[in-house]
Amino acid sequence: MKDPPRLHVDAALGAGAEIALSEDHGRYLTSVLRLKGGDPLRLFNGRDGEFLAYLGDASKKRVSAIIEGKVADALPPPDIDFLFAPLKHARLDYMVQKAVELGCRRLRPVITRRTIAERVNLDRMRANAIEAAEQCNLVFAPDVLEPVKLERALGDWDGDRALVFCDEKAAGRAALAGITLPAAVLIGPEGGFADEERALLHSLSFVHGISLGPRILRADTAGVAALALVQAAIGDM
Ligand code: SAH
Repeated sequence: MKDPPRLHVDAALGAGAEIALSEDHGRYLTSVLRLKGGDPLRLFNGRDGEFLAYLGDASKKRVSAIIEGKVADALPPPDIDFLFAPLKHARLDYMVQKAVELGCRRLRPVITRRTIAERVNLDRMRANAIEAAEQCNLVFAPDVLEPVKLERALGDWDGDRALVFCDEKAAGRAALAGITLPAAVLIGPEGGFADEERALLHSLSFVHGISLGPRILRADTAGVAALALVQAAIGDM
């Protein structure tokens, strides 16, 4: 039997409760997945954990779910923030989904001198983050924060968080050895960091520059490589 579908809901979850599903969720479950009343599903949020539930009357416009019992506790991924210059559409969708699958806890878009994306579609990023959490069995919903200028993010930095600065000009990645959680990863835009941005980053004690190898990676590839390295060094991979 295929695993029951897994959906993130904002509603509070508790055994025995009946919750109204969103119209989108209702349509997805009844029209796309063709679930019937009484069919099982799994609902989770980052506060209460994951629960087994059963679909209510599938013929109603607003479908409900009756929650049976908890099957897993909420479990945030390692305390790693992912800072990145927003990319355009498909590459940004990919970057957000992979960052969630690779276990970052918060996604923090930063605007740098050469960031190409004029407007950042936060709803789209948040939907991609949730979809990735549903797919990768994460019992948590990573936050996608409002974009801020790089200088602002660095100026407001919470001092005990190590910032791993992925710098194609760095010599190696020895700096990873000395890093502990809480941490953050920073990936620049396709055009790279401006000289003054690189100088600012290297002037900060909490910043640790690392190379991701001799090849220049696309920013979305760099995000995957960097999170894999950091998770392997200090996280949960
Ligand atoms: N400035 C480069 C391209 C930047 S690639 C150029 O124009 O040639 C986009 C981002 O991915 C960079 O800002 C950096 O954060 C990361 N990145 C790409 N390749 C990297 C590497 N080999 N080592 C470290 N970071 C890398």
